[in-house]
Amino acid sequence: MRFKTVSVRTLPIIILIIFVIAAAGCSSLQTQPAAKTDYDVIVIGAGMGGLSAAAHLAVKGQKVLVLEKHNIVGGSTTKFSRGEFVFDAALHEMAGGGPGRKDRGLYQLLKATGVDKKAQLYEVPHLYRSVFPDVDITLPPNWEGFKSELKKKWPQEAKGIDKFHTLCEALFTDLMELRDLFRYGTVRATLTKAMVPVRQRTFLKWKSRTVKDLMDECFHDENLKAVVSQLWVYYGAPVEKESALIFMAATESYLADGAWHIKGSSQALSDAYAARIEELGGTVKTSTLVTKIIVEKGRATGVKTATGQTFSARYIVANTDPYQLAYKLIGQENMTPAYLEKIESLKPANSLFGVFLGLSIDLAGLGYEDTEIFYNAHQSSMKNYEAMMKGDFKNGSVAITIYSNLGDPIYAPKGKSVVKLDAYSDVSYWPENRAAYEKLKAQKMDELIELAAKVIPEIADPKNIEIKEGYTPRTIQRYTMNKGGVVYGFELTPGQWEKMPNTTPVPNVFIASNWTQAWHGVGSCQINGWRAARMILDREGIE
Ligand SMILES: Cc1cc2nc3c(=O)[nH]c(=O)nc-3n(C[C@H](O)[C@H](O)[C@H](O)COP(=O)(O)OP(=O)(O)OC[C@H]3O[C@@H](n4cnc5c(N)ncnc54)[C@H](O)[C@@H]3O)c2cc1C
Repeated sequence: MRFKTVSVRTLPIIILIIFVIAAAGCSSLQTQPAAKTDYDVIVIGAGMGGLSAAAHLAVKGQKVLVLEKHNIVGGSTTKFSRGEFVFDAALHEMAGGGPGRKDRGLYQLLKATGVDKKAQLYEVPHLYRSVFPDVDITLPPNWEGFKSELKKKWPQEAKGIDKFHTLCEALFTDLMELRDLFRYGTVRATLTKAMVPVRQRTFLKWKSRTVKDLMDECFHDENLKAVVSQLWVYYGAPVEKESALIFMAATESYLADGAWHIKGSSQALSDAYAARIEELGGTVKTSTLVTKIIVEKGRATGVKTATGQTFSARYIVANTDPYQLAYKLIGQENMTPAYLEKIESLKPANSLFGVFLGLSIDLAGLGYEDTEIFYNAHQSSMKNYEAMMKGDFKNGSVAITIYSNLGDPIYAPKGKSVVKLDAYSDVSYWPENRAAYEKLKAQKMDELIELAAKVIPEIADPKNIEIKEGYTPRTIQRYTMNKGGVVYGFELTPGQWEKMPNTTPVPNVFIASNWTQAWHGVGSCQINGWRAARMILDREGIE
C-alpha cells in the first residue's frame, strides 16, 4: 500500500482496468477454504498482537486456538516477581488505552472485545519529566497542561507550541480517516489514495519527513525542541531519522486520549485478553512452541508444534516477526521472492538494555514523585543515540520508570520502591559467550545506574539496592523470539513507515506484531491484531 499521487490523466485508465479485473472476478483472496478443520483460526503467539487478533475473532463467533511458547501469555506485556517486588517487563505507559476524553482508537477496540470490563486502566499522572544539561521540566499527559508548561518556560514560542498541537491533531484525524483503507476493495482503495493530496494533506506532507523536520517547523529554541521530541526514546530512532508520522500520531494519542497503565501490571491486560478469549469459547495453550505452518497447494492447513502435535485451521495469524514466519514457519519455498526481498531490504530498529531495581527506600517519600523521567547526557538525540549504540551508557539517555509511584501496591511493599532503567542497544553489542556476556552486563548495569543517579543519587547506593537484575536484547530475543530482540519492528524512518502489511503471500496466513503496519507498542500491536482479525472476518463476510 504505497501512497503515491495518481495524476488526473492516469486516473480514468486505472479505474477502467480495475473494473475489468473486478468483473473478471479474479480476487483469489476471496476464495474460502472448504475443508473441515479443528479450528477456524490458529494464532501463533500470545503477545498483544496475537491476543487482540484472537479476541476480535472469538467475539465474532470464530473458533480460535492461541498457541504460546512461554508458560504465561503476554510476550513483552508481562510481569515477574523477585522477593517482595513485582516488575513490569516492558510497559511504562500505553497510548490511547483508556476511556479517554475522545472515544476513539484503542479504547474502542477494547470495548469491542469486552476486554475493557476485565482490565482496569488508570491514567498516569505525568507524561514525562525531561532532564537535559540545561533544562528540567515535567509535562502532564493532556494538551492543555502540556502546552501551558511549555509556554511558561518558552513564552516567545507560544505560536509554535500551538502549531505543533494543530499539526498532531490534524495528522491523527487524517490517519483515522484512512484507518479502514486496508479493508477497501481495489476501486475504493485507489480512489481513496488518489484523494489523499486533497483530503489528507497533513499526512501527505509529513509522511516523508522526520521528527527533526517537525521540530524545526514549529520551534526555534534547541532546548524546547529537545524537550518536545523527548519521546523519541519510545520509538526506536533519533529525531534526525525518526518518521514524523508515528511521533505526531503517538503525541496526539497520549495528549488527547491520555497515557495509561494497567491495575495489577501489564500482565493483567494480557490475562484479561486470555480470559475473555476462553469465555468466548476459544482455547489458549501456553508452553506450546509452533515449529511449522503446514502449507498444501499454496494454502495453510494447520500448524505443527515442537512436541509433534498438529492442529488444523482455515486461517493462521502469526504474532511473530516476519523472518521467523517466512524462513522457519512457512518456509522459503512457499514465500514469494518479492516478500523475502522486502523483509531483507527493510532495516530492523534497535533493541533495548536495562536494569530492574528493587529498592529498600521510599522514593516518593524522598521527594521523587515522578513516574517517568528521562535523563539525557546531551541535548542532541543523535549524540545520546550513538553513545548508547556503542555501549557508552554513561553518556546516553536513560528512561527511569518509578513503578511504585503509580499508586498500585502490587509493585513494592510500603516504604520500598521499584524502578526500571531502559536504554537503546543492539544485539550485536552483546557477546554470545556466556561468561563474557555476564561480565559485560554487570559492568553496563552499573554504568546505566550511574547515569540515572544524576537525577536520583540514592539509586546508586548499594545499601539501598535489594534486587538488581539486567536484561539485554538477547533476553528479549529469548522470550519473544523477535529477531535481535527488537521491540519496535522495522526502524520507523520516513522510508519505512509502512512496515509490512498484515497479509502474507500465503492467502490464509496473516501477521500481526511489532513489524506490521499499525506500528509498535502495547497499544499499536493490539491495533495490528484487530487488523489481522478484520481481514479474516471480511473474507468470511462477517461485519
Ligand atoms: C523494555 C520494554 C519497554 C517497553 N515500553 C513500552 C511502553 O512503555 N509503551 C508501549 O506502548 N510499548 C512499550 N514497549 C513495546 C511493547 O511492549 C511491544 O511493542 C509489544 O508488546 C509487542 O507486541 P507483539 O504483538 O509484537 O508481541 P511480542 O510481545 O513480541 O510477543 C510475541 C509472542 O509470540 C510468542 N511466539 C513467538 N513465536 C512463537 C512460536 N513459534 N510459537 C509459539 N509462540 C511464539 C512469544 O513467546 C511471545 O509471547 C516496550 C518493550 C520493552 C521490551
